[in-house]
Amino acid sequence: MWFLPLGGTGEIGMNLNLYGHAGQWLMVDCGVTFNSPLSPDYNSVVGSTQNAEILAADPAFISQQKDNLCGIVITHAHEDHIGALPQLWQRFNCPVYTTPFTAEILRRKLSTLGLADKVPVIEVQTGATINIGPFCLHWLAITHSIPEPHALVIKTAAGTVFHTADWKMDASPITGRAFKSAVFKRLAQHNITAMVCDSTNALREGFSLSETDCYNALLHVVKAATGRVVVSGFSSNVGRLISLARIAAKTGRYLALLGRSLDNMVGAARATGYWPDELTVVDASHIGYLPKEEVLVIATGSQGEPRAALSRLADDNHPLLLLEQGDLVIFSSIIIPGNEMLISRLVEKFNARNIQTLQSHDTELPIHVSGHPNRGELDLLYRWVQPQIAVPVHGEAAHLAANAEVAKAAGVPQQLTGLNGDLFVLAPAPRLWPGFTKAGRIALAR
Ligand SMILES: [Zn+2]
Ligand SMILES: [Zn+2]
Repeated sequence: MWFLPLGGTGEIGMNLNLYGHAGQWLMVDCGVTFNSPLSPDYNSVVGSTQNAEILAADPAFISQQKDNLCGIVITHAHEDHIGALPQLWQRFNCPVYTTPFTAEILRRKLSTLGLADKVPVIEVQTGATINIGPFCLHWLAITHSIPEPHALVIKTAAGTVFHTADWKMDASPITGRAFKSAVFKRLAQHNITAMVCDSTNALREGFSLSETDCYNALLHVVKAATGRVVVSGFSSNVGRLISLARIAAKTGRYLALLGRSLDNMVGAARATGYWPDELTVVDASHIGYLPKEEVLVIATGSQGEPRAALSRLADDNHPLLLLEQGDLVIFSSIIIPGNEMLISRLVEKFNARNIQTLQSHDTELPIHVSGHPNRGELDLLYRWVQPQIAVPVHGEAAHLAANAEVAKAAGVPQQLTGLNGDLFVLAPAPRLWPGFTKAGRIALAR
């Protein structure tokens, strides 16, 4: 059994993983990354990345032998896992398996390219077991920062892989099922050959905080605000959007959305049953006429993207809303490296007009929480699953090395740490074949 990452191993972004067995390949995820300035609003359908060149892993290795590709699985709907599929699918021309929310996001993307009827999207339910070529796949619910994140158990005659995809341990996510340790403890009985695992936060000690901690922090801040409140974050975090809608209801404010990617996400969440019926969103065209203490707006552009709603609010040229002295702008997000200048310029513009800003580093309160596991979570999962080999992915070299170190300390006998284009021979006789194929990136047309 082979593992061959073409993207996402040695970098954060553009995940494209291949599993090989018995002359067949299975693709897991097909995402994008952005050139500087990074625009990680991992929800943008179109727009909000106007200044960024959109890149994908070079798929030549697999598109040249697409007859041996038996299926594509998408683990969740973040752009770094799904974003390149609409544009690259014709090079693979094979069925796509994913769960209903991710399928909804995918169909919306495909329809913008006129491909909605061409791509066979097979909807899979959480907990399902499906044979795709020589691979037997089992979908396991996990927690992350978007609806329906899934880990996969991929079984073959040669060995079994536990592919975590993006995850954290969240005992009280705002939407979706809570993290259940029993499911993962049971994996130890399945003799897992290799655990292919998210390394994003492997340099951080302890445990990640829950979405509910973030809800409480945001509620505390909004309660104390006297003027309008604008919150900007990552639109794909539907749990965060639901939190803000609840906070609006609780604090006597109307909620409005500024930005197409937010409308799209809430639309997809409604279509798939993730948006609670009782939470209302008012038409954004009304928000400018409401008393300032009754306004809570979610706006796109937390990374300083020049044409997004937040930038227009900072420049005082948004057609639907003008902010004033005493209003508050909350960044419920992190600063993605490379975006420091854009964000600080945005903050300066608000502050120059006496509009208050609140970023994560300004407060002890968790106004943003990450969707990825810290070292404490990695350690626990390795101890529960007890794989023979740890394969760190979804990170730069330092993150991969840190993840491998946690695995070793947790008693995983072997760690294979490599990069895009390296072949990980998982069974029999595990070893790394560096530079098996050329790894590269290609630009996608907008
Ligand atoms: Zn990811
Ligand atoms: Zn993700």
